[in-house]
Amino acid sequence: MYRGIPVSAGVSHGKVIVLGDAARTILRREIRADETSGELARLQEAVARTRRDLLEVQRQVTEALGTHEASLFDAHLLVLEDEMMLAEVHHLIGEQYINCEAAYHQVVEKFAKALGELGDDYLRERAADIRDVGGRVLDHLLGRATEQDLRHLREPCIIVAPDLAPSTTAVLDRTRVLGFATDGGGTTSHTAIMARKLGIPAVVGLGDITSRVRTGEYALIDGHGGTLTVNPTDQTLFEYGQLKQRRAALDERIAALRDQPAITLDGHSVTLAANIDQPEDIPSLVDSGAHGVGLFRSEFLFINRRELPTEEEQYVAYRQVAEAAAPHPVVIRTMDLGGDKLPPAWARTGEQNPFLGWRAIRISLALPEVFEAQLRAILRASAHGRIRIMYPMISSLNELRDANATLERCRDDLRSEGIPFDESMQVGMMIEVPGAALIAETLAREVDFFSIGTNDLTGYTLAVDRLNEKVAPLFAPTHPGVLRLIQMTVEAARKHGRWVGVCGEAAGDPGVAPVLLGLGVDELSVTPSSVPAIKFLLRRLRMPEAVTVAQAALNAESAEEALKISTALARKAAPELFPAG
Ligand code: PEP
Ligand code: MG
Repeated sequence: MYRGIPVSAGVSHGKVIVLGDAARTILRREIRADETSGELARLQEAVARTRRDLLEVQRQVTEALGTHEASLFDAHLLVLEDEMMLAEVHHLIGEQYINCEAAYHQVVEKFAKALGELGDDYLRERAADIRDVGGRVLDHLLGRATEQDLRHLREPCIIVAPDLAPSTTAVLDRTRVLGFATDGGGTTSHTAIMARKLGIPAVVGLGDITSRVRTGEYALIDGHGGTLTVNPTDQTLFEYGQLKQRRAALDERIAALRDQPAITLDGHSVTLAANIDQPEDIPSLVDSGAHGVGLFRSEFLFINRRELPTEEEQYVAYRQVAEAAAPHPVVIRTMDLGGDKLPPAWARTGEQNPFLGWRAIRISLALPEVFEAQLRAILRASAHGRIRIMYPMISSLNELRDANATLERCRDDLRSEGIPFDESMQVGMMIEVPGAALIAETLAREVDFFSIGTNDLTGYTLAVDRLNEKVAPLFAPTHPGVLRLIQMTVEAARKHGRWVGVCGEAAGDPGVAPVLLGLGVDELSVTPSSVPAIKFLLRRLRMPEAVTVAQAALNAESAEEALKISTALARKAAPELFPAG
């Protein structure tokens, strides 16, 4: 049994498929003389397959970005077929009787290391190219699944991977994924968010799980307790079967509240909305009983594809969601690309700190044509439902004004083209950057609402990477520093008569929801599968208790103490949501 961080509830059991990664341990063994020709043939085959893969990727990038960007792959093809490298591999196999993958790995590392040590940026990048190409060849040699294979799973399975890019998770054949288990990752990594949305059990931060299980083995994944058990015994399977039944009974009970309002015992009403990524999420949105969409992560329309979506295509998607959510509103966040969410063709921008780099509104403002197409699509869709627009990762008033100026231009254009849109559509922004929370009063004058993204706000406030399992214990949205930024945001909004929501993962955590309620937020937007539990909890809380908890949490000495205070109230009000074990 391996322990990691539980990030998406549920239990399942099935065959494992291990996704490839070059960085894993390569077994070295001595081969017999009569095995050398077989090993050399394997090498030739793996190189040929890698060549085909590279040509395919190059074709895709050429289509999306043109030949200049795609020329990078010429360098990769040269590395792949480098005669000096291949001669050394042949020598190790044929003369020193080393197995193919160990020989290949040894040579790749030798060349990459030599280049990396030369202290020249250009050569360091070439070292990365060698490792990248080498990894592809090794994946073929080791028979590991590639991301491409995940689109066409033949049977239901648990996916074990070093980490999963949001672009991979988004294209998975969901009907056949029983669970995710990854070496890295944290609670608010997009893989975790996606797993929760899909209701697929997931455990991340399992260390080197990819080198401990093999494709084809059976495992049991427990997304509540955060474990992966390889080859579980019948007794374990039986115990988990019972746990599953108990959870199902509770789910049924809380699902019965679907059509009830999210209102506290003393009559304080909270808007409970859902976070979605694409029109395919409409059925789970509707089933959840959420009052609209508090966060539509529109960037998922932009990844996993060769070309950017057209205005028309986006309009159809936004309209579909708005119509499905009616009469409730839908907050469409303009694309939050960058960080770990990049279209495949942009995936190599070479940024050292992508989360502090070219991301979200910064990309939109830099690419006005792309931004305008999205704004026009949103405005046009606003004629068919209650749409609100929201900008991600705003850090200054200037950015907000630039975004609003672009929006105003789009409105003017549509008016002159005689195309209808909602003239009173609300415009808001996310509070994800500490600097924005600190100037919330200034910003509040020029928006209709704020939505607090606790995932990034926590990461940026505490300097903790939300994707890195090594620092996962430090990722704490209840850190009093984060709570004070939330408090400042709420107060600024109140002063200007604006409403405030929270759409980060903290909103869907029953232990954290009481403190958010007590801080005075008007809306909680959570993954659709968490809507029933949060509603169940809200309907058992009283506002004065939540306010007292929030005050105590703000003055707590640590994130752990604040969380304990908030969880104690939640547990007292709804013990069913905190079962032992
Ligand atoms: C957040 O940062 O809390 C948020 C909701 O945005 P995302 O998770 O998409 O970065
Ligand atoms: Mg964010």
